[in-house]
Amino acid sequence: MATRREQAVRAAVQQGLLGPDQPVVGLLDVAGIRAAAAGLRAAFEEVVAPGTPVLHAFAVKAASLVPVLRLLADEGLGCEVASPGELALARAAGVTPDRIVLDSPAKTAAELREALDLGIAVNADNPQELDRLGALVGHRATPPAPLGLRINPQVGGGSIDALSTATATSKFGVALQDPGAREWVVRAFTERPWLTRLHAHVGSQGCPLELMAAGIRVAYELAEEINEAVGRRQIDALDIGGGLPVNFASDEVTPDYREYAQLLRNTVPGLLDGRYALVTEFGRSLLAKSGLVLARVEYAKSAGGRPIAVTHAGAQLATRTVFAPDAWPLRVAAYDAEGRPKAAGPDGPIAQDIAGPCCFAGDLIARDRPLPELAPGDLVALLDTGAYYFSNHFAYNSLPRPGVYGFDATEGEVRFATVRPPQTVGEIVAESGAAYALGLTRLR
Ligand SMILES: *Cc1c(COP(=O)(O)O)cnc(C)c1O
Repeated sequence: MATRREQAVRAAVQQGLLGPDQPVVGLLDVAGIRAAAAGLRAAFEEVVAPGTPVLHAFAVKAASLVPVLRLLADEGLGCEVASPGELALARAAGVTPDRIVLDSPAKTAAELREALDLGIAVNADNPQELDRLGALVGHRATPPAPLGLRINPQVGGGSIDALSTATATSKFGVALQDPGAREWVVRAFTERPWLTRLHAHVGSQGCPLELMAAGIRVAYELAEEINEAVGRRQIDALDIGGGLPVNFASDEVTPDYREYAQLLRNTVPGLLDGRYALVTEFGRSLLAKSGLVLARVEYAKSAGGRPIAVTHAGAQLATRTVFAPDAWPLRVAAYDAEGRPKAAGPDGPIAQDIAGPCCFAGDLIARDRPLPELAPGDLVALLDTGAYYFSNHFAYNSLPRPGVYGFDATEGEVRFATVRPPQTVGEIVAESGAAYALGLTRLR
């Protein structure tokens, strides 16, 4: 992984993807992505009974880029979508409706109708949404797509509040331990023979695997209880969500899918014995380790004795890292202007701030970080940024979305393919209302 990365950085400079006019790019390691997808498939194949249908639906919000969705589809994955935009991206990537799952806490009536018309699986978030779905299903005995209900097992949160979906008061799903909720859910299924799935996504970065598995166990036991109450196997699939945490501290992939799948086998053996089809919705863990942001150092200055490298990677790209640095620290690697790893001087690494281009003081990717002394023209790489960093652009200062390129470095020479071209200034002007320039002046 590290070797391929070094080759790609060097080649990105040599092939001109990055330079004075394009001071920041995103790079994705295609072999790494394929390996992560294959690892996910293998981990579950190892623990499920032979013949168990398993759909691994990639959480599109983690990398809302059509060529990435297409690559993952090539590796046998589907898509989990949470908005009309994400659904359109999945379809543009050629992912068929039977391999798409729609979740989101705020689906409109039109979105639900579109999903049913297309035959896309939907997980209802709450009783009101379930009623809307019921109205669309009408008197049909079998709905046009598999329909499920999201529950919140309320098993607790992880270390990052904003990403903990299974707390007592989380906004997602039906809070199962609230008074009367379990009884309501059982009744909801007995009254709706077309409701055939349960969904739980316990959490993401910061959640221990044991907590995730405990949440899945709650969903499984509820499914058993419902099927018992109905007297048939009405629930025939469990959607266990995603959320495998990623190690942002080194190149090591830990935990891995195998560890999680084995834990599920020990915690919820009945889930895997072939009676239930499975859906998973992993996002971050499929992409994070395979991406990096590469940015030029524009200036190197010093303030109050603190060296500061002013780069082109800041809050517009690494929004979470800048605003919540303790929850989202990133490794930073230093390269010279030719893209060769930069060695520290005779006095060793120097503690520096790695700043971004945004006009606010807190726009720092790293504070007081020991690195080889950076100079103008050098490059910094933000590692493990393949997930979320290319889809959560923040339009602060009208900074453009950088280009993203996939690379293949498996056969010596590095080849790149465009995933997304850099946004142009013209595009920014157009989407900022240029066509309506006189609108406000004409209002009165
Ligand atoms: C975000 C999300 C996921 C993916 O989470 P990761 O931590 O990226 O694996 C899966 N399912 C749902 C419902 C989500 O909201």
